[in-house]
Amino acid sequence: SKQNGRNGFSFYFEDLNIDSKRVIVLDSELRKAIENRDFTLNFQPKVSTQLNKIVGLEALVRWESEKLGSVSPAEFIPYAEETGLIIPISEIVLEKACEDLAKLRLAGYSKISIAFNVSSIHFQQQNFLESIQKILEKNNTSAQNFEIEVTERTVMNNDSDTIRKLVRLKQLGFKLSIDDFGTGYSSLSYLVRFPLDYLKIDRSFIQHIVSLDDKQAVVDAIIQMAHRLNMQVIAEGVESVQQLNILREMGCDYIQGYYYSKPVSMDGLIEFLQLWEYE
Ligand code: C2E
Ligand code: CA
Ligand code: CA
Ligand code: CA
Repeated sequence: SKQNGRNGFSFYFEDLNIDSKRVIVLDSELRKAIENRDFTLNFQPKVSTQLNKIVGLEALVRWESEKLGSVSPAEFIPYAEETGLIIPISEIVLEKACEDLAKLRLAGYSKISIAFNVSSIHFQQQNFLESIQKILEKNNTSAQNFEIEVTERTVMNNDSDTIRKLVRLKQLGFKLSIDDFGTGYSSLSYLVRFPLDYLKIDRSFIQHIVSLDDKQAVVDAIIQMAHRLNMQVIAEGVESVQQLNILREMGCDYIQGYYYSKPVSMDGLIEFLQLWEYE
């Protein structure tokens, strides 16, 4: 309990709702994984509805622990955020993204961009911009190749530091997406103030878009609003052709989801891209 465990693992156990014994193993396994750079990335394509072409990829971290087997980022990322381990993990993720980008370019795909997820904990670090720039420089690559996905939670602060960082990222050449749109904070004021390129509609809206008229109305309204604000819209979690058709009709710009592909390794993706082109 909290009385005897403030300094121990039960604190996280209560916050994150995971078994306390598992947390102890998770913690030591995660630290070991960071030391060994033992993470990989899977990539999920973003398909342009107009061009019917893959224009981008989202990088999603994967971790196979010796003792725990494969652990979902939905479990270890929140824990890493609580403990600060998210910073080294994010840096490893970006380095791997650079390496995989080089593979993609070598295979002849010169335009496809890679999006990576930035945790609010990382974003708020004072040296966030420098840490990202350093990794790009080390890997001889530029921001033009990348998109950054930040959640509503990250930008809702709406303070001068957030704006400064977003503007600087844009100046460097990154495209900016607002992730999980619709799940967090209802204040839309930041959409006008921030230099965002894409808005990603959360899967929870897409899930019932075929059967529920009110969800359809919300998604339609989000798309129209984004376009009025000169943003493009990505629908995430698209699993069926029915969902795809509704979204296409509404003018949604990009589709991401199992309908096209689950997240796959870069090697798997390059095979997939070759098939896709001959379709
Ligand atoms: P997210 O950024 O919203 O990523 C989308 C999640 O939905 C991914 O889960 C993806 O595999 C899943 N997904 C994609 N299409 C479909 C679909 O059609 N149906 C269903 N049911 N699911 C779909 P994943 O890979 O388990 O990642 C979960 C979350 O973990 C991510 O949500 C993101 O918040 C976080 N995450 C993943 N990788 C990273 C990373 O490198 N850095 C950070 N900071 N967070 C990450
Ligand atoms: Ca994302
Ligand atoms: Ca998302
Ligand atoms: Ca999500």
